Amino acid sequence: MRLILFGPPGAGKGTQAKLLAEHRNLLHLSTGDMLRTAVRNETPVGNEAKGYMTIGELVPDDVVNRIVAEALSEIDHAGFILDGYPRTVGQAQFLLDLLEENDAPLDAVVSLRVPEEHIVQRLSRRRTDRETGEIYHLDFNPPPAGLPETRLQHRADDQPAAIRKRLVEYHTKTEPLEDFFETGARYVKVDGVGGLDEVSERVEEALATIETTA
Ligand code: ADP
Repeated sequence: MRLILFGPPGAGKGTQAKLLAEHRNLLHLSTGDMLRTAVRNETPVGNEAKGYMTIGELVPDDVVNRIVAEALSEIDHAGFILDGYPRTVGQAQFLLDLLEENDAPLDAVVSLRVPEEHIVQRLSRRRTDRETGEIYHLDFNPPPAGLPETRLQHRADDQPAAIRKRLVEYHTKTEPLEDFFETGARYVKVDGVGGLDEVSERVEEALATIETTA
């Protein structure tokens, strides 16, 4: 299956993509994670992306398109879930062209719907385990007792000013993609408010509907 998980920052894309990838044996491609790794390793891509990411701006399309194209070619464009990409109309066009060239059509775009008032609260209380990459929320999905505080990372772009900037970027550059995708037959909206398992069940139900009508 070839999937896009779409939604605003803090919609739970990372958490749900990870669960889906495990259930369905898909490659989970998170451009956010790939970029953060590049920043940590101080690669040329990382050095270019760092300034944008810290203040909550989108990284230029050509940088992100390149890393996605490379990652997809490694798996021969089969069996993936894209999390956090595409995020602009330019990226979406690039991806669709790339998939068409490789005869690898998308199966579905799943849009996780979360109202804005939930988003800021989710992001500001989000923490990531530096070692495993596991995502927690201090109130809704707390880290296990005994996990040392020093392993929990509060992302630089999960600070209030960067969160506000990310939401502006989302509304101006990413939201217009909804119209772009909505013209395709396999665009499904899933309510992203609720517990992890609840949302995960809704995503699986939505995919099952798509599979039976495929
Ligand atoms: P979130 O979805 O919570 O905003 P991500 O971890 O997906 O977080 O992305 C973090 C940051 O990485 C973004 O704010 C942006 O700077 C950069 N980034 C990730 N994916 C893309 C993309 N497809 N295009 C441009 N920038 C991106």
